[in-house]
Amino acid sequence: RILVIGSSNTDMVVKTARFPQPGETIIGGDFFMFPGGKGANQAVAAARVGGVVDLIAKVGNDVFGTQAVEGFAHEGINVAYVLTDPKLASGVALITVNGEGENEIVVAPGANAALTPADLDLAEAAFESTDLILMQLETPLETVLHAAKKAKALGKPFVLNPAPAQVLPAELFPLLSLITPNETEAALLTGLSWEGEGALSRIAEALLQKGVENVIITLGAKGAYFQNADSYFQVAAPVVTAVDTTAAGDVFNGALAVALAEGKDWQPAIDFACQAGAIAVTRMGAQTSAPYREELMLRVE
Ligand code: ADP
Repeated sequence: RILVIGSSNTDMVVKTARFPQPGETIIGGDFFMFPGGKGANQAVAAARVGGVVDLIAKVGNDVFGTQAVEGFAHEGINVAYVLTDPKLASGVALITVNGEGENEIVVAPGANAALTPADLDLAEAAFESTDLILMQLETPLETVLHAAKKAKALGKPFVLNPAPAQVLPAELFPLLSLITPNETEAALLTGLSWEGEGALSRIAEALLQKGVENVIITLGAKGAYFQNADSYFQVAAPVVTAVDTTAAGDVFNGALAVALAEGKDWQPAIDFACQAGAIAVTRMGAQTSAPYREELMLRVE
């Protein structure tokens, strides 16, 4: 059983030949709407690979929030801890994609920004019954810190996917059983650069020095790297043709959390997560690209 705490957004995407100038109105192409938000993406990815998932999130009292919650329930996620704030809008991401495939994104966090430490205290039963807690950085930092403290007090593993990249307070690191940055996030958190020999282990070591127990750095097409006080190794990602890398990290983290909660060792758990991440990049979208357990069973286990 895993507990995912984090954001839920609705991604609204419009394609256009070029970005508008300030003050300019242009006519774009097709419009698409997808469920998104890192917390929701990771919860869906975890549920699809067989996790029993509780989600703590907050939506607004609007059609986007209602649709998001219906989507979670459809994925088999327990929505009993998804809160609705009647005074706020649900989180949305307004995304413009130009002819070169570049994007411009404005996120209106809405209710996500109002997920408070007190909200977590309403979900005491979820904390007590879970095997592992997974969180990201699209909800307030004080809420992340509070969740990590609760996990520590209960002796539950707390996994932080530190995305989007953000500097973190020193007191958070010793509360983390595992941190899972990508290359950009790992560099920002440590202030170290990827230049030169041995950067990978140097950056992982710097994170361990901050008090984190275990470090996994995701490396895109190169897979993922693990390091703790006892060992280090890299797991290669399957070779695939990437179509859309959106949410690769989210799918990796959701699958990893399930594998770890099932008691898998580091190496097979990371392999499982890499397989899931690789499948996700071969498909369009965020939650839509997350694979099901049956698809992974053909490859691992
Ligand atoms: P993020 O999406 O957070 O930037 P990464 O790009 O590191 O994270 O991707 C997360 C994981 O997804 C990788 O560790 C890998 O397992 C998988 N993955 C991402 N891109 C590819 C790719 N091009 N080919 C195969 N696997 C990939």
